[in-house]
Amino acid sequence: MLLRRGDIAAHDRASDIFAIAMTARSRERRAPLPADVRAVLERVAAAIAMRCDLRVETGWAMLSRIDERSDLCAEIAQALERGARERERYEFFSAIGHELRTPLTSIRGYLETLIDEDVDPATARRFMETARREALRMARLLDGMFEFSLLDLSGGSPAPQACDVGAQLLQACDVVAPLAAQRGIRIEPAAAPGVRVALDADACLQMLVNLLDNAIKYGRENGVVCASVRKCETGAIVSVDDDGPGIASDERESIFALRVRGATAGARPGTGIGLAIVKTIAERAGGRIAVMQSPQGGARFEATLPLA
Ligand code: ADP
Repeated sequence: MLLRRGDIAAHDRASDIFAIAMTARSRERRAPLPADVRAVLERVAAAIAMRCDLRVETGWAMLSRIDERSDLCAEIAQALERGARERERYEFFSAIGHELRTPLTSIRGYLETLIDEDVDPATARRFMETARREALRMARLLDGMFEFSLLDLSGGSPAPQACDVGAQLLQACDVVAPLAAQRGIRIEPAAAPGVRVALDADACLQMLVNLLDNAIKYGRENGVVCASVRKCETGAIVSVDDDGPGIASDERESIFALRVRGATAGARPGTGIGLAIVKTIAERAGGRIAVMQSPQGGARFEATLPLA
């Protein structure tokens, strides 16, 4: 725990509020910095959430003094309000950051290949077109980010749109190709032609890129990622399979929650946002997303989307 001797932790029976006063003097004899406070809050909230499986809301405030005249209830209410604002801001920027990182990595990968390797003119043209398409998608993402948060299901349904999900899958494979190359992974797409789903093309691409990105990140080095699109009675089914460690059955619900990382995350970089965005996109379109064991040995993510 990060608390020191001299800090005070308090909790009234039957109340769901825990209060901590960081009153201990640090070695440098300074008041705690916001980063110290946030670190303590994060650890305490994680410990509480793990024990009681409840959503924990946190907040903090700097108090110049505490005595019997202080209105601690008002201070706590204000701290929680400020915490909620901080969380909202953090989630918004992490979501945008997450979604911009993949196109940026993709563009960089294609440019590096064009600069460092001898590529025939037809392939070079295809690489440049993919990079330009991704740059344009980044611009659209930035333009649209003030209209609705990527994670806000209550943001109202966008106007009904349609796209060819197989075509988007092939495009998504091109986007993640430089990432796959870095880990020696082969991507095998199998897309039934002409399957149109009730989803905007950019949102569909974003969902597929996130799923492929994860399959590459968590899949086996030099392994294979399979992605397919097929039609079924209730809609289109998109599957992404990998040969990595898979997802334990007790985590198959929780990994779709915002900022939740699974046991497989380990030292791999990540923020626990990609799958929350996938779920939001699938559900906003009236579809759903599930994860199961893949015949390839790893994870299979399966999105069921309504047909256009
Ligand atoms: P991040 O990858 O940034 O942690 P995500 O929301 O994309 O966030 O994924 C949440 C968690 O689900 C990951 O931390 C990881 O443990 C698990 N996960 C996602 N995709 C896979 C996969 N293909 N194989 C194994 N684990 C996965």
